[in-house]
Amino acid sequence: MPHAGSADVAAALLGWFDSAERDLPWRRKGVSPWHILVSEIMLQQTPVVRVQPIWEQWVQRWPTPSAMAADPVGDIVRAWGKLGYPRRAMRLHECAGVLAERFDDTVPDDVDTLLTLPGIGDYTARAVACFAYGQAVPVVDTNVRRVIARAVHGRAEPGNPSKTDLADARSLLPPQRRRAARFSAALMELGALVCVAREPRCENCPLRSQCRWQQLGRPAHTGPARKVQKFAGTDRQVRGLLLDVLRDSDSPVERARLDQVWPTDPHQRMRALDSLLTDGLVELTAAGRYALPGEG
Ligand code: SF4
Repeated sequence: MPHAGSADVAAALLGWFDSAERDLPWRRKGVSPWHILVSEIMLQQTPVVRVQPIWEQWVQRWPTPSAMAADPVGDIVRAWGKLGYPRRAMRLHECAGVLAERFDDTVPDDVDTLLTLPGIGDYTARAVACFAYGQAVPVVDTNVRRVIARAVHGRAEPGNPSKTDLADARSLLPPQRRRAARFSAALMELGALVCVAREPRCENCPLRSQCRWQQLGRPAHTGPARKVQKFAGTDRQVRGLLLDVLRDSDSPVERARLDQVWPTDPHQRMRALDSLLTDGLVELTAAGRYALPGEG
């Protein structure tokens, strides 16, 4: 069973990562901490294949935080496209403004300072410190929680997120700073590629001989069933459709254009539009039309 600072676990995982690591553009040499931060915001709840083309456009368009801060927030929301959860785009624009004004256009390298930035939560702060600056900090996302639940605790599924997740991940880090940073990335990659939610590929896993779940005979999950987030028919889908109309228009649109979206349930459409207005993702112009923020 993997235990604190286990050299065997580190050697096995890092050896595997050397050959299995995906060649993702934000992992390449020379990518700035700012662009790594952008990738981490985009990757929250959005798969790599959808993020990659948008991220590549953004790197060209906004090479620095000040370049992004200089553009209206509506441009950022428009360029966010269909990545989903578009409040992330607004917060990123806000974050760019703070970095430009208060941090001399650079991204801080420590978790505590990163946590003071708009839209940067615990996961993102740790990911940026680790992946952009090689800090020896544990980085815990859903994938890491799943690997730890199985390999360390012998459980098929992680429970709800808890404070012990971070301590568990920290206890596995090798003591050397550079190895620790790479270990954090490797643990996440293992959860994304091998120790996946459905049908983990244990036969290809570098931790197989040390995995507690394997040693216990792969006991079944006994807790509540995992909730599958649905999208079809949710307010989130309707919000996306309304934003699509505004993104596709060069000028503010009449209410009638929005009413063509989701015709089967006007109440739900109204609720979705209200929430977009409340979030500041949509603005009502003086002429009674609807626009992306700052484009009225
Ligand atoms: S052996 Fe299987 S369950 Fe254990 S860490 Fe590897 S993939 Fe996950």
